[in-house]
Amino acid sequence: MIVFDLLCGEGHRFEGWFGSAGDFATQRDRSLLSCPTCGSPRISKVPSATRANLGASQPKPARRPDATPAKTPEMEGKDPFAIAQMLYSKMLDELLTKSEDVGREFPAEARKIFYKESPARAIRGQATSEEHDDLVDEGIPVARLPLPPTDKLN
Ligand SMILES: [Zn+2]
Repeated sequence: MIVFDLLCGEGHRFEGWFGSAGDFATQRDRSLLSCPTCGSPRISKVPSATRANLGASQPKPARRPDATPAKTPEMEGKDPFAIAQMLYSKMLDELLTKSEDVGREFPAEARKIFYKESPARAIRGQATSEEHDDLVDEGIPVARLPLPPTDKLN
């Protein structure tokens, strides 16, 4: 006797006992096999480490839910580009909520923090291109956010 793990087209898994591997193929081809749960005649063997290469034309087993990699529910069904966009906006949100908004004082405040005249902290605000370039020229680490000017920043 030989035992196969079997899978029906609906994803039900069960065991089948056969006289030989050929028995399985014969019974399946004659549609003598059916799922004990739903009666589906579309039965395939579940490949395992020791049995995977025995059959020349094994049907692909149905995709099972527990075989997919772990994802957070909000990423489910989204393409990689959408996920990247989501992570990026999360990062921006975090930056915006954790930094102190100093508005138009940004260039002056960034300079004070750099020269330790103000307590070190994360700040955000507005700077013109010239002010930004001046800060960079002085070696002060500032980053431009590719955000359109919105109320959220003001
Ligand atoms: Zn079934």
